Amino acid sequence: MKSKLHVLYDVIRAVNSSLDLSEVLNHIISITTGIFEAEAGSVMLLSGSELYIAAASGLSKKIIRNTRVRLGEGIAGWVAKTGEPIILHGRVTDPRFKKVVKRQESISSSLCVPIKYKDRVTGVLMIRRSREKNYTAGEKNFLTAIAAHAGVAIENARLYEEERKKSKQLNREKKRLASILSSMADGVAVLNRDGVIEQANPVLCRFIGNGRRLEGKEFGSVYNDIPFEDIYSKVYEQGKSFFSEVEIPPDKVYRLIVSRMDPGGDSLVAVFHDISEIARAEKVKSEFLSTVSHELKTPITTIRGFLELMAVREHSMEQVKEYIGILLEESERLLRLVEDLLDLSRLESGKFILRKNLTKISDHICGMVSMCKLLSTKHNIILEMEPDLPLIRADGTRVEQVMYNLLINAIKYSPAGGDIVVKVERCEDSLKISIKDHGIGIAAEHHEKIFNRFYRVDTSLTRSVGGTGLGLASAKVLVEAHGGYIAVESEPDKGSTFIFTLPVEGN
Ligand code: ADP
Repeated sequence: MKSKLHVLYDVIRAVNSSLDLSEVLNHIISITTGIFEAEAGSVMLLSGSELYIAAASGLSKKIIRNTRVRLGEGIAGWVAKTGEPIILHGRVTDPRFKKVVKRQESISSSLCVPIKYKDRVTGVLMIRRSREKNYTAGEKNFLTAIAAHAGVAIENARLYEEERKKSKQLNREKKRLASILSSMADGVAVLNRDGVIEQANPVLCRFIGNGRRLEGKEFGSVYNDIPFEDIYSKVYEQGKSFFSEVEIPPDKVYRLIVSRMDPGGDSLVAVFHDISEIARAEKVKSEFLSTVSHELKTPITTIRGFLELMAVREHSMEQVKEYIGILLEESERLLRLVEDLLDLSRLESGKFILRKNLTKISDHICGMVSMCKLLSTKHNIILEMEPDLPLIRADGTRVEQVMYNLLINAIKYSPAGGDIVVKVERCEDSLKISIKDHGIGIAAEHHEKIFNRFYRVDTSLTRSVGGTGLGLASAKVLVEAHGGYIAVESEPDKGSTFIFTLPVEGN
């Protein structure tokens, strides 16, 4: 037979073999009921001022579920309150417990000992048997010793469970944070005090890391346009946030803000906000302003020069007439420029209204061709129109404006004259309109650019015929507002064909 010490050792080993609370409790019950030949046993744990059954053997599920004992009430409540073990034999006559155990009169002997942790009662361990064999004082002491070890094991398991819950919660929070970071449109990195990247979201890895992981790398080595010392001195020494605009070739611009993650904390959070669109718009705006001022300045300078010339000296009538002719021409150029500019700015800002109606577009095209025929005797404008073209939903006046811009260019840029062929045909879901000339043509490198505002191919002819560089830009906006597209096919010295489409479908 094993000595008490051996048994106690086995018990300690068993209850400490797991950190799972319910496993520990079940070990305690099965070992104690086994050693003490008990028919039933339970571990009751204290929650606030109530005991509940945390593990049991020989008790019905209903009892396990429903038993709640207040501190000081019944046997378990008394033991939990006083911290003293107790043995009860035969019928319970003790007035303290009578009320609670009246249903258990057949019990011959029961033993209830406190479970403690650091002198604080955390529960009770209770066993009972109905055979004619009473528990002895020695058994009471032995069960008390077992309960003392059980108390430590239970507390350890409890702490472990709490930690596990906390770490689960922490993991959940971490996952949540990671999913917020990865779904953000901004690039975000957490840096430590030495400028090493501790965390970076996928957007940032794409922005500055070409998709590679950035964790563990020094910020200064990944993004070396800004030395980390500058950030360090601003944030840690001056206690301010660091702001900068960073350019990442070929065409990205970000606003970088680096600040402390929490006041007094050591970590930094760096946010890269994509401002490429804003920067592009700013650039276009300033380019536009400088081009406009340049374009306006040229005729004004000419006008002023001639006026000065006329003011300082006497001129013959002939000369005055010539100067006035130039002045008129230049002021008309100025007026045209301002009108074109206003029109284009209305078109581009989307503030113009397309008055789309079911339109017989061939009438507008014929009208414009007839009008342009009057503008040049050197050119032969030929109209080739497919019969039975469908009606389309379009703004006839605006389509005339497109036709005018393209026809006037065909005339202007074919100084030797010749045929200009206007073709109108049905092409799948669109009407395709092309204007072909035999003029100076356009080199391929200019094909896209000529649709930009103010863009003019610099040739002696373009300089001499004059123009604002706004006609094709307006044509493009108008065609696209109708849902069509505009393009050019051209080769230098061979002539150009401008093509635009107007959708038929959905009209
Ligand atoms: P503008 O004619 O007032 O200069 P546009 O926007 O109409 O402005 O045209 C832009 C440029 O495209 C012109 O300056 C010219 O260099 C070129 N271009 C347009 N149409 C033709 C054409 N039919 N043939 C040759 N070059 C053309």
